[in-house]
Amino acid sequence: AVAGRTLRVFFLPSFARGHLIPQTDLACLMAAARPGELEATMVVSPANAAIIAPTVARAAAAGHAVRVLRCPFPDVGLGDGIECLSTAPTRDAWRVYRAMELVRPAHESLLREHRPDAVVSDVPFWWTNGVAAELGVPRLTFHPVGVFPQLAMNNLFTMRTEIIRRVSSDARAVVSVPDMPGNKEITIPVSELPSFLVQDDHLSSTWEQIKACQLAGFGVIVNTFVDLERAYCEEFSRVDARRAYFVGPLAAHQPSCSAVQRGGDGNGDCLSWLSTKPSRSVVYVCFGSWAHFSAAQSRELALGLEASNQPFLWVVRADGSDDSTSLWAPEGWEERVAGRGMVVRGWAPQVAVLAHPSVGAFLTHCGWNSVLEAASAGVPVLTWPLVFEQFINERLVTGVAAFGARVWDGGTRGERAEEAETTVPAEAIARAVAGFMERGARRERMEASAGELAERARAAVGENGTSWGDIQRLIDDLVQARDSGLPPREN
Ligand code: UDP
Repeated sequence: AVAGRTLRVFFLPSFARGHLIPQTDLACLMAAARPGELEATMVVSPANAAIIAPTVARAAAAGHAVRVLRCPFPDVGLGDGIECLSTAPTRDAWRVYRAMELVRPAHESLLREHRPDAVVSDVPFWWTNGVAAELGVPRLTFHPVGVFPQLAMNNLFTMRTEIIRRVSSDARAVVSVPDMPGNKEITIPVSELPSFLVQDDHLSSTWEQIKACQLAGFGVIVNTFVDLERAYCEEFSRVDARRAYFVGPLAAHQPSCSAVQRGGDGNGDCLSWLSTKPSRSVVYVCFGSWAHFSAAQSRELALGLEASNQPFLWVVRADGSDDSTSLWAPEGWEERVAGRGMVVRGWAPQVAVLAHPSVGAFLTHCGWNSVLEAASAGVPVLTWPLVFEQFINERLVTGVAAFGARVWDGGTRGERAEEAETTVPAEAIARAVAGFMERGARRERMEASAGELAERARAAVGENGTSWGDIQRLIDDLVQARDSGLPPREN
């Protein structure tokens, strides 16, 4: 290979926004880190191309080489395209992993045709390892989820047979996560584990393949920062990746490109509304891009926020039936809370909201991006996990990093809560929210922990920070791999 030409890196994110947004940020950051030397190409579905368009336009306007390649993905019967999985019911969520395999032929022919110098692809796209090997270029796995939940899931996977046996005799069994670094015991009820760990489903059979490809690949890029989960990062580098790059929080880097999280789509009104509220007084309520509440649960939440007497900003999904207030909130509710509460339908500029000085708490489902964004903004968190690894993330937030507390502790939580028709009652929500906002020693502790994390996150993405350093190191390693061929295996 000839040294000095542009390094062409292809990025293949999966379809959900929690994956798409950070990987787009990474592509923009890498292009910005080496102007004129690196070209980033996002391979996305036509619908997702529209979502990242403002971010890519912003990068282009700054003179950074980021382009989009629309990849026509097959219809998988989840609506009018696989990207519609964002509206799939919660219990179908892991099935989406199966649907993803349908894009394999499209990925393979596209990579063979364009022959990039390096491939960065999402966890479920394990097959990109094979094509990259065939082309003799590095493939890196991009992890939109932190190291703590990954280690916990890997380690729990090793005791899956035991978990399945215990679930069959006791649906309320609690397991201890094996082989985690440090002395802290981490326990979790089996009902809060992702389904692939408690039953044989499609993902449990592809999990090993995903892991094997990750280990055999060039390295792993994780959206986290070392100071958030240091002991776990060290352990992860030892057992889970040949090379690990901890590059987050991606939304906190300067120059950041996350246009969609910064008011780029016309929902900026809530920012001026926030400015009318006292410092650290508002509870921001958002459950990410995917989670779905039943109408009954949504109404309890509405009543709970009303009864809490706290100012709140609540993001309600705008798709389909949820848009009619009579379904997601009781009759007359919006008028009653007017002034004190604001509802955003659809999409809020979350990163900008969390950075606003009026925001004092974040009621979140603990999606990894939301956890990172809360930490970066120094905002304490009330946890309400719903599916996937969110319950494990919750343990990082409330235990290891200690900047949050659970909104509720009763009843069945997790993917089976829907079947159990468990709803969190309005009174419990009101009590938790009001209690969390109450001034006092507990609140001060949370604010101090969150504030410290924010400082460390800022340092990590700063010029001499670990995450910015890892982005530079990643690019250097890719240039070296191109110019002198792929280095031999290190372990
Ligand atoms: N997000 C946003 N506005 C919204 C909802 C979500 O900007 O109204 C962003 C949020 O900042 C985060 C991502 O979408 O970066 C959601 O990812 P997360 O991992 O928190 O949850 P998921 O959507 O994957 O469940």
